[in-house]
Amino acid sequence: MQPERPDYSGLTRLKESHSPRRRALWTTLVYLVAGFIWITFSDRIVELWFPDARMLSLVQTWKGVLFVVVTGLVLFTVILRQLNKDRLLLSLQSDQRRALRRRERQLTVLMDNLPGMAYRCLPDENWTMLFVSAGCADLTGYQPEELIRNRTTSYAALMDEEDAGQVAQEVEAAVRKDESFSVEYAITRKDGRKIWVWERGCGVLDDDGTMVLEGIILDISDRKQLENELEALATRDSLTGVLNRRECSRVLIEELERARRYNRPLALLWIDFDHFKEINDTWGHAAGDSVLCSISSLLEDSVRSVDTLGRFGGEEFVLILPEMDVAEAEETAERLRQRVCNQPVALESGHNIRLTISIGVAVFPDHGDTLDALCAAADKAMYRAKKQGRNCIAMAQAVQPVHNGFR
Ligand code: GH3
Ligand code: MG
Ligand code: MG
Repeated sequence: MQPERPDYSGLTRLKESHSPRRRALWTTLVYLVAGFIWITFSDRIVELWFPDARMLSLVQTWKGVLFVVVTGLVLFTVILRQLNKDRLLLSLQSDQRRALRRRERQLTVLMDNLPGMAYRCLPDENWTMLFVSAGCADLTGYQPEELIRNRTTSYAALMDEEDAGQVAQEVEAAVRKDESFSVEYAITRKDGRKIWVWERGCGVLDDDGTMVLEGIILDISDRKQLENELEALATRDSLTGVLNRRECSRVLIEELERARRYNRPLALLWIDFDHFKEINDTWGHAAGDSVLCSISSLLEDSVRSVDTLGRFGGEEFVLILPEMDVAEAEETAERLRQRVCNQPVALESGHNIRLTISIGVAVFPDHGDTLDALCAAADKAMYRAKKQGRNCIAMAQAVQPVHNGFR
């Protein structure tokens, strides 16, 4: 719906016409000149036409009456025109006022019912709010007057410092190009809850020529949560929460690429639970599931934050250990094996069970220089560990020197 625009044509005409004093002076001047001409020449003419003194006096009287009637008619016409103009102007102003009020009401209703918060702010380091709509309270937990002019807190203080810098850069770039901006970031509400917001706005010049930002901020936490859940579904194993096979392969390819580029070692541990079928058969599938969860979190807690644990399927896990050479990898694998072996797992039934794992260890570039070669080497080593009696680790065999080198 197009908003009703006030009609300014009357005002424009008013501005274009001459000033009232000038117009009044002109009218008076015309009146004086006409009166002077009338008095001067009409007296001469009637004196010429009517030499008789009595007749002349009568004609003079009627001439005076005629002058008064004509000037009266002119005055009437001028005043009538002016009064009509005044009335038109007044009704024009009243129409404009009504149209403005209607627009104001429409805007207020719109602002108050917006999902989120409309704002006008200065593009300074505090994001000093000059105006925020009523939705501010729902969005941030602060009342509008608490945020306006940074009375209780500044809007920028609700954002993470890192986000604020990034967002400011994006906004500045858009304003410089005279384009609107659209950014997503997290804010901390008054009650301490963190929410995700989406902001769209643009830079506009205020009445006094200062640059201000105007726009709208919406809560998109639900959408963000859904996005995160979808991402987790796509990248994480639903039972244990560690990376799934596809994501783990992606990380391995990436790490392998990095190791190759910087000529650094990378270790891969292939882990399989020993006699896991027996656990399922003895304690049930649900207990088996909880053992999978416990052991995977034990493994995750036992490695560095740069290391990646993934579930490759069943009770088979892989550990990607960047920057780890053969000796360190062997040591880590042995440490993990001992830790699992010595840590009983508590079942929901109250029973504690012990479990062991077999680990195959392969290191880039010593045991393979491609994803497939490294995985195959680690898998083969794990089977050797099984053959050696389980609850042990086995190192992959070094690749032959005739190998083609890095691919
Ligand atoms: P081994 O020492 O030779 O590895 O013996 P194993 O019994 O562990 O044999 P294998 O690795 O071949 O069998 C894995 C078993 O893990 C088979 C299957 O019942 C069980 N398993 C696979 N995925 C799951 C799962 O998601 N939950 C549960 N509870 N069990 C699973
Ligand atoms: Mg097994
Ligand atoms: Mg297995």
